[in-house]
Amino acid sequence: MSVDIKKIGVIGAGQMGGGIAQVCAAGGFDVYLIDQTDEAVSTGLARMTANMDRDVSRGRLSEEDRDSILSKIVTGTSYEGFADCDLAIEAAAEDEEIKKTILRTLCDHLPADSLIVTNTSSISITRLAAQTDRPGQICGMHFMNPVPRMDLVELIRGIATEEDTYKTIRTLAEKLGKKPVNAEDFPAFIVNRILLPMINEAIYTLYEGVGSVQAIDTAMKLGTNHPMGPLELADFIGLDTCLAVMHVLHDGLADTKYRPCPLLVKYVEAGWLGRKTDRGFYDYSGDEPVPTR
Ligand code: NAD
Repeated sequence: MSVDIKKIGVIGAGQMGGGIAQVCAAGGFDVYLIDQTDEAVSTGLARMTANMDRDVSRGRLSEEDRDSILSKIVTGTSYEGFADCDLAIEAAAEDEEIKKTILRTLCDHLPADSLIVTNTSSISITRLAAQTDRPGQICGMHFMNPVPRMDLVELIRGIATEEDTYKTIRTLAEKLGKKPVNAEDFPAFIVNRILLPMINEAIYTLYEGVGSVQAIDTAMKLGTNHPMGPLELADFIGLDTCLAVMHVLHDGLADTKYRPCPLLVKYVEAGWLGRKTDRGFYDYSGDEPVPTR
């Protein structure tokens, strides 16, 4: 089914949902952004505004463009606003049950011919699509973090995804200035199938005392020319998301090489989720991040 996309609804106003709302508004679309609570919505909006203010101060974005982007984004907590959306983008927490519940609720409000994409980092598109009344109109659209700065979008077709759906979403990705790459519907797709085992191994390296946080990150930056060390990157992604992706790899591929590092599990249990909670492998409460181990 071919759809002319004018208004986009985004579910989840976290670091990804906020970034996705921003690039959609910058691409000229009307955006409706929701989260579970008013507090989560205002935190998300404040984060997005602060990111754009930083871009303005660095000369990467004009004040007029920032204001025009913000004027195109309407926020809320209710699904009512999806009644005139042509596309819904699911960007809530990386938890299969949460995503399934959201998709079922969404279908009660979204017009029958509208499309749905999910920004899941790892979960089967086929399984998520099967929860809905329109499996042919769903595909995976995996943006990278930070969304406004990263060029790549992985596109993942579920077994039922129709060709028109895929083509419409591919055209949308290009219109948003992104470079789409196709990945098959296997656990964690391409980027996270490769990246997350590396991050998990870096956490094992810390856990086994092979190196300190600083030694591991410095070694990987200088030794492999990565712009960020793996532990810094884990904090940036969010340790809850990293753990969720490792669980999907471990469960989905049934290979012990994907066993989540116990230290990662402990940090998540402690609520130390990285930058978003001000503490992960680094402490972000001061001016400069300080390694915690
Ligand atoms: P986040 O923790 O910053 O944000 C998640 C948001 O979802 C929170 O604001 C939370 O309140 C909201 N949420 C939870 N349950 C909800 C519900 N039932 N209804 C509405 N909102 C709900 O996480 P994030 O980093 O933005 O990740 C979101 C999604 O994007 C995940 O699926 C993640 O795997 C994926 N993703 C993350 C990254 C990354 O680097 N962090 C990159 C690509 C994709």
